[in-house]
Amino acid sequence: MDKKVRVRFAPSPTGYLHVGGLRSALYNYLFAKKNGGDFILKIEDTDRKRFVEGAVESLISSLDWVGLNRNEGVFLKEHVLNPENKKIIESASYPGVMEIGEFGPYIQSENLAVYKKYAEELVAAGKAYYCFCEQERLDQVKAERIANKQAPMYDRYCLKNVSAEEVNEKLKSNCAYTIRLKVPADEVIEFEDLIRGKVSINSNTVDDQVLMKSDGFPTYHLANVIDDHMMGTTQVIRGEEWLPSTPKHILLYRAFGWDIPEFAHLPLLLSTDKKKLSKRMGDVAVEDYIKKGYLKEAIINFVVLLGWNIGDGSTQEVFSLAELEQVFDLKRVHKAGAVFDLKKLDWLNAQYIKKLSVDELYEKSLEFFAQKEFYKTWNVERESWSAEEKEIYLKKVLQIEQERLNNLSEVGENNQFFFAPIAYDKTMLNWKDMSPEALRESLQKSIETLSGISEENWELKNIEEKLFATAGDKKGDLLWPLRVALSGAQKSPSPMELAWVLGKTESLQRLQNALEK
Ligand code: GLU
Repeated sequence: MDKKVRVRFAPSPTGYLHVGGLRSALYNYLFAKKNGGDFILKIEDTDRKRFVEGAVESLISSLDWVGLNRNEGVFLKEHVLNPENKKIIESASYPGVMEIGEFGPYIQSENLAVYKKYAEELVAAGKAYYCFCEQERLDQVKAERIANKQAPMYDRYCLKNVSAEEVNEKLKSNCAYTIRLKVPADEVIEFEDLIRGKVSINSNTVDDQVLMKSDGFPTYHLANVIDDHMMGTTQVIRGEEWLPSTPKHILLYRAFGWDIPEFAHLPLLLSTDKKKLSKRMGDVAVEDYIKKGYLKEAIINFVVLLGWNIGDGSTQEVFSLAELEQVFDLKRVHKAGAVFDLKKLDWLNAQYIKKLSVDELYEKSLEFFAQKEFYKTWNVERESWSAEEKEIYLKKVLQIEQERLNNLSEVGENNQFFFAPIAYDKTMLNWKDMSPEALRESLQKSIETLSGISEENWELKNIEEKLFATAGDKKGDLLWPLRVALSGAQKSPSPMELAWVLGKTESLQRLQNALEK
């Protein structure tokens, strides 16, 4: 029987979740779901120079927000769900972070002794060696090789010139060292990438890579291979930028005599002008999209299409996570770079916003309203309103806006006349070259019509019927002045919608103000 699928997302915590990272996480998650396998989250935090306080916690929290549940690995304490009763410990280095599963630690900085042990085993087996070269020498060798048009590789000085006794002495006297892999000569490194097909390179082009750094931390390569082996990873699904590292990893698997997982390298993300996606955080941090009011359904849907499509002649583009769990297939991930087009994200988000019930839209919009100055002032000024009255009012605004929103941070933005007193130039009230008398008459007709509708019957349909009846075939004459009187704006929802949201008293008041201008 084939081995159970076990895949992992292995981010290095940089302070934010990159959209490319979210795509790797999502494809791994979907691959696990589709194949009845496990999805694991491990943290690759061995690069101490890039350590950012709080980054691990915020990364997990972003994954939780989009709803990518794990079977194993790291979790936030407040979100721990452990239905399978797996082993669970609190992380020693990140308080509040839990590690669930039998194959931990799932955080590399907590596994240093293990990496060191394995590196030393390779030295004992003659497959790796100690290197005592100082940075200055390494830089010099590199510069010379580049000047001679050679690949900038280490010249094996320590392997050739430092005897076993000298190594022991240097180690005893605490000399700084690294451990390097002794890359075998003339080996063909070949693998079948699940997306890119056959990849083949000769080991002579691979540098004697450092496995243990002088600070006692493993390099990414060593730690990545050891814990993928220990966690039983069956497929490594990651971004194309890691493709050059894969031959190095394969050499390490070979040196240890371990099974080699399958590899799948996901296409690069490109900006709309086909350049590599800019690293400016605003473009790539998932957290920024969350803050701007994109729904998780839209973010997932957008990200899954960055390199994958359903194929078979279908043009379907809107997919729920549950649906993707059924239909996702790595075979349909393409090699060519995937264009990151924010217009598509807006379009998808608008689709999902339209599908929300008013109650859902209201719940999700409240935090965005709360950030707006016009809303804060409105809220204070409506002190006498009950919480329920405010809720009803906001829901009306949202019902009108729902069809037009691209993201939730836009709520109220284009329709601030629902929240604040309006100011406009009197001439704006005129429909075409209306005379002052015709304008008066028009406003009066609106007042009469709206006054004739009782509070109980203040429904959009009713308001529309009555106003259209009054307008007859001269719609502009009635509706233009009414629109401006209610909104102070030339562009707005329909005057009927405005009246419905504002309510009878406020609508009549605004019409009266227009009349008195
Ligand atoms: N730590 C790497 C990253 O930050 C992960 C590479 C891999 O998945 O092997 O993307």
